[in-house]
Amino acid sequence: MTKIKYWLLATVMLFVLGACSKDDEPDPDFSVINMGNGEQNDFDKYLEKTFVDTYNIDFQYKMQDIESDMSYALVPASYENSIKMANLIKYLCLDAYEEVAPDGFLKKYFPKMFMMVGSAGYRNNGTFMLGTAEGGLKITLYMINSLDVTNVDRLYEFYFRTIFHEFSHILHQTKDYTTDFDKISAVDYVGGSWNDAWDAGESAAKGFISDYSSKETNEDFVELIAHYITNTPESWETKIAAAGETGRPIIEQKITIIKSYMKDVWDIDMNELREAIDSRAKKLDEQDLDNITIN
Ligand SMILES: [Zn+2]
Repeated sequence: MTKIKYWLLATVMLFVLGACSKDDEPDPDFSVINMGNGEQNDFDKYLEKTFVDTYNIDFQYKMQDIESDMSYALVPASYENSIKMANLIKYLCLDAYEEVAPDGFLKKYFPKMFMMVGSAGYRNNGTFMLGTAEGGLKITLYMINSLDVTNVDRLYEFYFRTIFHEFSHILHQTKDYTTDFDKISAVDYVGGSWNDAWDAGESAAKGFISDYSSKETNEDFVELIAHYITNTPESWETKIAAAGETGRPIIEQKITIIKSYMKDVWDIDMNELREAIDSRAKKLDEQDLDNITIN
């Protein structure tokens, strides 16, 4: 849509909503994203400046029906927890990448839309989804209303591994990794039956960092990245030690390829990224996540 059409739409909507008197000039910063929901509140203004203007990321917390999966009974995310999650994503994810990634990297490659959902996304079989993504571009995060900012492990498990996982899909879809990676576990991928193919610990012994890793190579690849950068060197060591004599060397072989790929293709040092995330996580309790700052 052209800029002129945006202007026309914005002007028409302002008129329809009666948001301003006829003497007001149209606001050049008026965002079309929140049209239809009335005027921008402070959080909307923060999102426009911090997410839209800086990174071209649309952060949706009002759960417009058109953007949510109506096959699930979903509850909207609370305003307060949406603010917390926006602050968290900025602090623990975007700013961590900013520390180690080349200029412009996030704006170019990071997923373009977040969608907050208050409740879990339950499936018919009683399990629930942690997050969903469509083509890597839009990430839906569930259970925002039970967000616990004091529990970093839970933050990683319920939200941030999903984000790192989906972001990493965009990277390999943009520039693929070496086929050497595909060969390592080629005979052990189980496809759609990853969910019930393994008893506890079995997938690790085969060299998978999670059961979901065993689905296929791309999932294996991004799961490894998501887990690696959300572990400390110590907790990572514990994890791969648990994979035993057979699993450990397989995981290490894959991580070596991933580190080279991330460095060579994206100029990102995986250990620096892990350190950036971990040092931020350790100072999480010092952060004011309840308030928004509009500079
Ligand atoms: Zn995936």
